[in-house]
Amino acid sequence: MSAPPPIAVLDDASKEYPGGVTALRQVSLRITRGELVGIVGPSGSGKSTLLNILGTLDRPTTGSVAIDGHAVRSLGDAELSALRARTIGFVFQQFHLAPGVPVLEAVADGLLYSGTRRSERLVRARRALDRVGLSHRTGHRPHELSGGERQRVAVARAVVGDPLLLLADEPTGNLDSASGSGVMDLLRELNGVGTTVVVITHDRDIAASLPRQVEVRDGVKVADSSPAGALS
Ligand code: ADP
Repeated sequence: MSAPPPIAVLDDASKEYPGGVTALRQVSLRITRGELVGIVGPSGSGKSTLLNILGTLDRPTTGSVAIDGHAVRSLGDAELSALRARTIGFVFQQFHLAPGVPVLEAVADGLLYSGTRRSERLVRARRALDRVGLSHRTGHRPHELSGGERQRVAVARAVVGDPLLLLADEPTGNLDSASGSGVMDLLRELNGVGTTVVVITHDRDIAASLPRQVEVRDGVKVADSSPAGALS
């Protein structure tokens, strides 16, 4: 059997921000379909920059990125947005749920840029909420939910379009440990049915529980527990 294809490949990617900050230095990283990867490192080490580049929200200053076989450099902004919309889901520490918007609408909005009809968006949003165990909360607004439930809504919104790749930036950072481990279980479940998951975490226990860990320090990839990753 041939190896699964990579979903994301970074080759010698560096990122300089205006003002002369070098946030990433020649990072090479290959993420294969079906992996569950933790990105670890101290604050300011370049983890979010790395995730934003993997998510095509930002482009590297030098080096290259390919997502699902598409070289990001060769794509214009509209093509890149389309690739992102069909391939990648995002979860952030701060949930990013608009106040006052009912849960079902918030999740359906995850399909706004996919060209899906509204009625179909709502059907799929119900299904995504069911997957995260919140089918009884579809009419609630964010302020009526616990932190853990809000993050589950954010995960439902991220996966409503069935992305190949789910990127999570400190998804448990604002949660108590019980809610945090519930969200991690959910990410593991999604990974178990085929979604590739990359998660930034400060939490050493969470990191240790993940099958692959990539460690970043001062913008440099200093460790990668995957044998394949160590070669890249
Ligand atoms: P981490 O996620 O590990 O905390 P970041 O990727 O957020 O690290 O940041 C890496 C470095 O890049 C830090 O020194 C940070 O201050 C700097 N940085 C991040 N974003 C920007 C930006 N938009 N403009 C300038 N500097 C930035």
